[in-house]
Amino acid sequence: MAKKKSKRPSWDEYFLKLAMLASERATCPRMHVGCVLVKDKFVLATGYNGSLPGQPHCDEVGCLIVDNHCVRTNHAEINALVQATTHGINVRETTAYITNMSCTSCAKALIAAGIKRVVVFSDYHDTLATKFYTESGVKIDKLSMPAKTINYDLKSYTSAKKTRKSK
Ligand SMILES: [Zn+2]
Ligand SMILES: [Zn+2]
Repeated sequence: MAKKKSKRPSWDEYFLKLAMLASERATCPRMHVGCVLVKDKFVLATGYNGSLPGQPHCDEVGCLIVDNHCVRTNHAEINALVQATTHGINVRETTAYITNMSCTSCAKALIAAGIKRVVVFSDYHDTLATKFYTESGVKIDKLSMPAKTINYDLKSYTSAKKTRKSK
């Protein structure tokens, strides 16, 4: 019997899916965003929107709203840049895979850090990101959202041996 083969994702789909996965760690209920910085098909850093280390999360104590925006979290793009900085990683010439178009501040930070391409599947409100990216020569690719499923079919992998807990 021929096995049903799941479609192999393109590189862009793969990294966008990683951004979606990173967004699962987000802590602000108003928006869950993930960002993955990639160079030569190599993941340099990931980020999601969340509170500062050691500080309470929006989903525990509520959002901190200023001018109709929650300002409690650092955004996914900033946290990816911070992760790279903390580990001494140069992000020049990278592609930023982000679930949503950046806010204006994050767009400016990514541009200043030297990224060359942005890939997103969703837009964001009140942002001048497209203007800043375009004026700075950053290529923007808006793709459709990848499938929300992870295709891992343990039962069908004949070389895999189940651990006692796997189903
Ligand atoms: Zn919040
Ligand atoms: Zn932002």
